[in-house]
Amino acid sequence: MARTRPRPQATLQRTLRVLNVACPHCGAATRSAYANDRTVSTLAGVVALHLHVRCCQADDCPRYRRPYRPEEEGRVALPRHEFGLDVVALVGALRYRQHRSVPEIHLDLLARGLVVCQRTVTNLLDRYDELLAVRLGDSRRLRELLGRQGRVVLALDGLQPDVGHEVLWVLRDCISGEVLLARSLLSSTENDLATLIEEVKRDLALVGQGKKAAKAAKAAKGAKAAKGAKGAKGVEPGTVPIVGVVSDGQHSIRNAVARALPEVPHQLCQFHYLREAGRPIYEMDRHAKKELKKRVRGIRPIERAAEARAAAGDAQAQAVLGYCSAVQSAITDDGRPPLDRSGLALHERLDAVSTSLAMVEEKGG
Ligand SMILES: [Zn+2]
Repeated sequence: MARTRPRPQATLQRTLRVLNVACPHCGAATRSAYANDRTVSTLAGVVALHLHVRCCQADDCPRYRRPYRPEEEGRVALPRHEFGLDVVALVGALRYRQHRSVPEIHLDLLARGLVVCQRTVTNLLDRYDELLAVRLGDSRRLRELLGRQGRVVLALDGLQPDVGHEVLWVLRDCISGEVLLARSLLSSTENDLATLIEEVKRDLALVGQGKKAAKAAKAAKGAKAAKGAKGAKGVEPGTVPIVGVVSDGQHSIRNAVARALPEVPHQLCQFHYLREAGRPIYEMDRHAKKELKKRVRGIRPIERAAEARAAAGDAQAQAVLGYCSAVQSAITDDGRPPLDRSGLALHERLDAVSTSLAMVEEKGG
């Protein structure tokens, strides 16, 4: 049965941009080419994604005018999927960890506010199974695609639908948007993650070759190792290198990447990076704001006293009311951390009010 109700309006808006503005192929700066809108149902709500897509403009680059989509897009949802990856992870966890039936999972999703029909739950379960079945080494399509592409920008995402649940780890290529490996893990230590990265690395080492060549290379490598022949080191023909890593920068991920891919640049998701870097400033700013607010707490009684007089046409009381509302709006107008420092802003506003008051006093008002 298809969905009978229309999908609810988007409740969240997110704009995603490409983090790596240099073309992974030729290194030239890419240009913003067009925007792409997508709506995805996630556990947090229906998200309207606004995606800024970039293209390489170097006409001698093999990826000339081919799109680079925001790296983070694949963390939200798989290509062309209507439901978020977090929903897929949840459905998998409910089915395999908690052994729930499809109707039970359906009820669970409805209780979380998702607009979904039972048939879709079956589809989501299929997506989960497919995701975990991805084997780079066995997929000819993936091998050929990545072989042509010649490099991979690896993204590591850990999706944990509920606290205490296992984490669905998805390792994907940001250039093609393809999932390279997905595993559901109960623990996500540095060791666990490094093992996943190693697995992808091993598969990528044989990607650029046909299956026969890959086997031959494997055999030759074995023979070489057995003989202890020289020249076994270095990059083998057909290896598709990982040229960059993108993640949200959890400590275990950072350490695992540093261990498994020591030479590869690792970019943290800018949102998380900014949030982490801004935290100490945010804390200080919040404290400053609290202290400032304490000093203007007595504004209400003054305002009330002036209101009656102002209504009677007292010009002085009207001016006092104006100052009161300036202070009120200075207090209530909250900026968004970490870029807006509302404590500092409050200080500036109160400063302006007090300067103005001082001027009035000087004039003998
Ligand atoms: Zn290029």
